[in-house]
Amino acid sequence: MPPVTFEIRNNVTVELVKASAADSDVATAARVSTVGGSHEEVVDLAKDEGLINYLMRDRHGSPFEHTSLTFYVEAPVFVAREFFRHRSGWSYNEESGRYKQLKPTFYAPPPERPLVQVGKPGAYTFKPGDHVHAASVEQNFRYVYREAYQRYMGMLQQGIAREVARMVLPVGIFTSFYATCNARSLMHFLGLRTRSCIAKFPSFPQREIEMVAEQMEDHLADLMPITYAAFNVNGRVAP
Ligand SMILES: Cc1cc2nc3c(=O)[nH]c(=O)nc-3n(C[C@H](O)[C@H](O)[C@H](O)COP(=O)(O)OP(=O)(O)OC[C@H]3O[C@@H](n4cnc5c(N)ncnc54)[C@H](O)[C@@H]3O)c2cc1C
Repeated sequence: MPPVTFEIRNNVTVELVKASAADSDVATAARVSTVGGSHEEVVDLAKDEGLINYLMRDRHGSPFEHTSLTFYVEAPVFVAREFFRHRSGWSYNEESGRYKQLKPTFYAPPPERPLVQVGKPGAYTFKPGDHVHAASVEQNFRYVYREAYQRYMGMLQQGIAREVARMVLPVGIFTSFYATCNARSLMHFLGLRTRSCIAKFPSFPQREIEMVAEQMEDHLADLMPITYAAFNVNGRVAP
């Protein structure tokens, strides 16, 4: 079988493709009862801050849904699998290994990523690992990725269908998908998929989905600074 070249990445891609998401969208929706129909007017941002904080604190979530953010993500399959568990307020489209030959791009952890789990389920931490662990990860990942992709290509060359040949590929292979959400569903995702010492309900996500979440969080902070501040002040609990 001919040798294959393949790429190993230790990062993820998150691009904000488009967004219609501003703090004023939240305030305008929330004020429908008091100044209904005035959505053309410029909203008073000083007043919005108090209103948005109140909505966040008392978990009046629906005004945050009048926003839309579309992301393009490149991440390993195991991250996508975790990601797609987020059902409410999310829409997805993912590349399909039935319709295209999958690219030989695979994930391996960056050097700083902890490798060793210490403790029992529900109460564990991760530690860096020593040079033996690091060498094992490096060698095993490379060996399996090369072997699996070579076998995949070999089967395609024999005329075996893409949807069958892909079954040998590991979950470390990269996939790509579009994900569209609103600010409320994004905050719910961030509350679960990031670790934060200010979180009212601490979560312990896998580092790789957190790498995606962190980049999405930066976009939320840029687009909706008042909402983002209120999210943090109120313990990173989605309204
Ligand atoms: C650290 C961590 C570890 C995890 N480990 C596992 C695991 O071992 N195994 C596993 O299977 N999953 C695991 N998950 C996934 C987890 O169980 C959730 O599926 C995922 O986090 C999505 O959360 P969600 O359902 O709240 O989000 P969404 O699906 O986006 O839903 C948002 C909210 O809408 C409401 N909602 C949505 N659907 C329903 C429904 N059908 N009925 C009632 N209310 C609904 C709920 O209030 C929900 O919180 C883990 C998640 C995290 C963060």
